[in-house]
Amino acid sequence: MAGRYADGNADGAGRRVALVTGAGSGIGLAIAHRLAGEGMDLVCVDVHEPDGLPGAFLHADLTTREGNRHAIDFAMERFGRLDVVVANAGVQHVSPIEDFDEDAWDRLLALMLTSPFLLARYGWPALREAGDARFVAMASVHGLVASPYKAAYVTAKHGVLGLIKTLALEGAAHGIRATAVCPGFVRTPLVEGQLADQARAHGVSVTDVLERVVLEPQAIKELIEPDDVAETVAFLVGRAGRAFTGAPVVLDNGWTAG
Ligand code: NAD
Repeated sequence: MAGRYADGNADGAGRRVALVTGAGSGIGLAIAHRLAGEGMDLVCVDVHEPDGLPGAFLHADLTTREGNRHAIDFAMERFGRLDVVVANAGVQHVSPIEDFDEDAWDRLLALMLTSPFLLARYGWPALREAGDARFVAMASVHGLVASPYKAAYVTAKHGVLGLIKTLALEGAAHGIRATAVCPGFVRTPLVEGQLADQARAHGVSVTDVLERVVLEPQAIKELIEPDDVAETVAFLVGRAGRAFTGAPVVLDNGWTAG
């Protein structure tokens, strides 16, 4: 399989193709740039397209079955193969359970649990065909531990770890490896956007929320950078990531050590 990872396939059938969801912002954007830098062909899927995104862009709402089906079909029509799926798109909703908006619950579960399932469901034949495929779900430290006021997010991320274990067992015979990346807090619009909600829910000021609430559970009181998460994903989908399957890969600044 020499040559499959960085600069194309050994059989000359073309470069490796990676589909990244939520590629329009934050961690997904960093992953798209990182994998393009590895020489992969990129399919970037999102509901919003920033300037300068590498590869081919598809506007799709991944809370729907059609959106996920379209993402896989688009990749195959465009490049004729699919080697890597990074199911990364996500949103947050912060609320005490008694006020938790039911539609927000449905939306979060659809995007962060059902979309990874549908991408695996529809993409499986192509991943099997690829011969050495990787399925990476962007989970979270909240796939391993809970925080108050994040019922849907914590539930979806815990569920994704179960999905990944199942995909690893089913994929083993077909060269498909599946992992769940579990970061602590990363400096992205998703985190910046929840500071006001967190301040309201915890009854503290926005300025206090970063240090006293957001970074409080981490041993190292620093936000993780999107490029660091992208580097982890590049490792997992590369040659050296071949022993990683069915497992969470945790980069949490010591959160779960406590
Ligand atoms: P972000 O808000 O910067 O990016 C999320 C992207 O998902 C956006 O571009 C958005 O348009 C897209 N998206 C939202 N709804 C969509 C939909 N219905 N269909 C298609 N795309 C949609 O967020 P981020 O921080 O980069 O988060 C990316 C992933 O990383 C999420 O799954 C998140 O849960 C996970 N994560 C983030 C952190 C963190 O601290 N930022 C920590 C752990 C895990």
